[in-house]
Amino acid sequence: MLVVTKFGGSSLSSSTQFQKVKNIVESDVRRKIVVVSALGKRTSDDTKITDLLYILHAHLKYSVKYNDIWEMIYSRYVEIKEKLNINYDIEQDLADLYAELNKNISKDYLVSRGEYLTAKLMSAYLGYTFIDAKDVILFDYSGNLNDELTQNAIREAFEKNGKIVVPGFYGGYPNGEIHLLSRGGSDVTGSILAKCLQVSLYENWTDVSGVFAADPRIIDNPKSVKEITYKELRELSYMGFNVLHEETIFPVRSLNIPINLKNTNDPLHPGTLIKNECSDTEELITGIAGKKDFISFDIVKNHMSNEIGFLRKALSIFEKYNVSIDHIPSGIDSFSVICSTNNVSKYKYEIISDIKNELGADVIVDDDLALVAIVGRNMKCKSGVCGNIFSTMGNLGINVKIIAQGPSELSIIIGVEAKDYEKTLKALYSTLIG
Ligand code: ASP
Repeated sequence: MLVVTKFGGSSLSSSTQFQKVKNIVESDVRRKIVVVSALGKRTSDDTKITDLLYILHAHLKYSVKYNDIWEMIYSRYVEIKEKLNINYDIEQDLADLYAELNKNISKDYLVSRGEYLTAKLMSAYLGYTFIDAKDVILFDYSGNLNDELTQNAIREAFEKNGKIVVPGFYGGYPNGEIHLLSRGGSDVTGSILAKCLQVSLYENWTDVSGVFAADPRIIDNPKSVKEITYKELRELSYMGFNVLHEETIFPVRSLNIPINLKNTNDPLHPGTLIKNECSDTEELITGIAGKKDFISFDIVKNHMSNEIGFLRKALSIFEKYNVSIDHIPSGIDSFSVICSTNNVSKYKYEIISDIKNELGADVIVDDDLALVAIVGRNMKCKSGVCGNIFSTMGNLGINVKIIAQGPSELSIIIGVEAKDYEKTLKALYSTLIG
């Protein structure tokens, strides 16, 4: 049985964190494949190595002096090496990188060095073999993963070496150049490795004990979730749960490999298990998430419901401006198109005028909307949740502007004025979960 064990930046921020990682890895013989992010923040006002590297690249680009930033990067790696007495010449790797800085270094290459150097140091510390992600996570020139080549390369590297450390967040193009994933992408690297090696578990270690049932910045001490399905997590992540990179679940989900979110600072806590099917629990609601900054275009036209193709024509206007749509609640002669404000702000007036001119419809815009998603696999076919939601909102005098429920009954989404957002979350949490 094998486990892929991925550590995020906060688990790798200092020599103390490196020691915790070593203890975790050594406490379970199945932990033979380790993925690391770059050194993260030591305190809340510290700067991540990845951010320093982006800043360094900007300095190089605009020919601004960069020695102070370089020194910050350099000293973080050397300090960990020295404190832990790691027998590895990280100074040489850093000197090589320094020599490359003025040779038109690409942003992707430079930023990927955060993970690269962290993995070098960690592999020496654990006594595992370093495998460069550019040789095993293989992309085509459009940035799509080549599944077959990647699978073969990873299997070969693992079979040859037995215990490996792989840097997250990047891979290689066919010519060996670096392709960087989007921010937080080391989660995805771990998931790809888990799939290719068909492991029994993908562990993702951070500084929190798994998923909370609501945003801890708004709800005091929210419950932690023991088990959650991939689908529920997708709904909650989409609505603002910042747990894993959103692409993470796709590789492991296809093989039903569970993801266990764990806390490096509290390794005995079971964390959260994410999988295809979870056991039924008493709780109807798994989590409540939400986001402000939505805009709704209410489109109204008499006899619209008899006009074949009306909806298509309206939606094609949004498509023309490359706006992605989140929800479309509908009435008889009206429907609303709800999108995130950021996506639409550039073309808001063009969209309104196209709807008026091309469809002959009226448009009422509400750009002060917050959405709240109440998510739970156990809601299906059970009564009472909607009743609870609406009586809670009614008792507080909060106007519910939008109601939407997906066909799978996995979530109920309500829209309220942005000013009522926090109040809504708190009230629904205490009625439905707390
Ligand atoms: N270090 C990268 C970031 O900060 C990637 C990662 O941590 O997954 O986004």
